[in-house]
Order: sequence, then C-alpha cells, then structure tokens
Amino acid sequence: MSITQKQHCPSCEEQRTFMQVATTNLNVGEKTKWRCQECGYRAVRIGSAVDTVTA
Ligand SMILES: [Zn+2]
Repeated sequence: MSITQKQHCPSCEEQRTFMQVATTNLNVGEKTKWRCQECGYRAVRIGSAVDTVTA
C-alpha cells in the first residue's frame, strides 16, 4: 500500500504526485518523507511545514 499526495515539485516546477516513503513520529509532530514519482525529488514534511532535503 502506498500513500500519495499532490504537491508542487521544485525540480519539475509543476504539480506532481508524491509518494510517501517514510513516517517518523516526533515530539513536534509526524515527520513524513515524500518522493516525486516523476523525478525522484525528495521532500520532508513535519506537521504542516514542508522542507527540502538533500539526502
Ligand atoms: Zn519532480
């Protein structure tokens, strides 16, 4: 089972479907990792905030 979500990909510069690849529960909230299905760009979301990662 995979969880997907539409969000803007800064690499594709378009709205893309991201697939959830990991979830971690932190004190500040749930941390989830997402991967763009088109280019493989990775994004991390903590709570409602989205940040980018280089890994
Ligand atoms: Zn992309």
